[in-house]
Amino acid sequence: MNTLTAKNFTIFVIPAALLAATFWLMPRVTELPPARLELLGHLPYLAIALGTILSLHFHRGRAFFVFLLLALSCWSFQRHLTGAPRGIEATVLFQAVTFLVPPNIALFALMRERGIVTVAGRIRLAFLAAQTLFVWWAMAPGHVAVQQFLAWQFTTGGFPAGSPLPQPALPAIALSGAVVAVRASLKQSPIDSSFLGVLAAFTVACNGVAHPYVTPVFMTAAAVILSLGVLKDSYNMAFRDELTGLPSRRALNEQLSWLGRRYCVAMVDVDHFKKFNDTYGHDVGDQVLRLVASKLRGVGGGGKAYRYGGEEFTILFPRKGRDEVMAHLEELRGIIADYQMRLRGNDRPSSCREGKRQRSSAPPRSQGTVSVTVSIGVAESGGDRRRPDDVIKAADQALYRAKGRGRNLVSV
Ligand code: GH3
Ligand code: MG
Ligand code: MG
Repeated sequence: MNTLTAKNFTIFVIPAALLAATFWLMPRVTELPPARLELLGHLPYLAIALGTILSLHFHRGRAFFVFLLLALSCWSFQRHLTGAPRGIEATVLFQAVTFLVPPNIALFALMRERGIVTVAGRIRLAFLAAQTLFVWWAMAPGHVAVQQFLAWQFTTGGFPAGSPLPQPALPAIALSGAVVAVRASLKQSPIDSSFLGVLAAFTVACNGVAHPYVTPVFMTAAAVILSLGVLKDSYNMAFRDELTGLPSRRALNEQLSWLGRRYCVAMVDVDHFKKFNDTYGHDVGDQVLRLVASKLRGVGGGGKAYRYGGEEFTILFPRKGRDEVMAHLEELRGIIADYQMRLRGNDRPSSCREGKRQRSSAPPRSQGTVSVTVSIGVAESGGDRRRPDDVIKAADQALYRAKGRGRNLVSV
């Protein structure tokens, strides 16, 4: 389930597209009239404020704290941006921010969602406050050891060439980027993939600190990327089933209201699933539902699968008649029936006697594998089925007939 495949990388498309758009926009920004350019300095704060409101509204603590990091970073770069004499303090501040922010983003990516105005939220806030105090302390004259560390050059020759990034920040950025990328690929969540976009935009913003407009533009991009992550994550929570990753019943209802006159609905129900759960336990049952969902996702004929509820699924075939989808459903039924699912070790029965009892009453099982079958009922729109509810009802009745005829069947 958690292996990295090409499909998993689609979650990076939105952050990558936004970054690419920002790079494309950058040369055009400098052509803006001076009055507008002056406003540019406020843009990241506006984007961060909006994102913070969004994350508060949707209770996204991890995003909230990353917005806080972005706000602190923006604020700490002000002295660089205004072109005032920098001095040692501003330099130390820049070095500390570029060194500390990336690992903090990686940490928030690794943390579980625990809210904002909760005990965990307060601890996280205290953690950020402690780091802020530490940076403030490190900026003061006399703290030579820390300042030397932040300015440490482990290679000579001005690496990275032409960049103000301090050398200690480079491994911090690279390592954090790798952690966030792997985490996002495994979790497949929009917020996690947006963390990688934020990290990339933040790095470009730091790198362009000597340029008058790069930092505000890319800080704004970071805030927009994260805001979209928060919105997409909240959308998924409402419209995607957490267990299987399929669109939920709510998404199905939404889709049904958009459909044209001609479509086909298939109701899919796992056979004897209650017995399966009783035999192997709820966890194995969940694994099976995920497996069935993954097979349903691959259905041909332009069908789209939804989790209707429990062990029932719906497949919607827009602009298709019954005769056009039967072969695809028959193929799907066969694929699921033939698939031997390997059981995970910790799902094995706890005792010999229990195992014996399970084997005697269990669905087909051989050498640590199990298999399930599904029954499918199909109905098409038209005739006296005017509303989507009527078509679903007809598909449900067809499913009932498939069960009555012995299961593992497609029925109309
Ligand atoms: P039939 O062949 O007639 O469909 O029999 P069945 O046992 O599949 O049907 P029934 O409706 O009696 O049982 C459905 C079972 O599905 C009961 C419930 O425990 C199980 N179930 C529903 N949702 C989930 C879930 O999310 N995870 C797991 N593991 N089991 C679930
Ligand atoms: Mg059922
Ligand atoms: Mg069932």
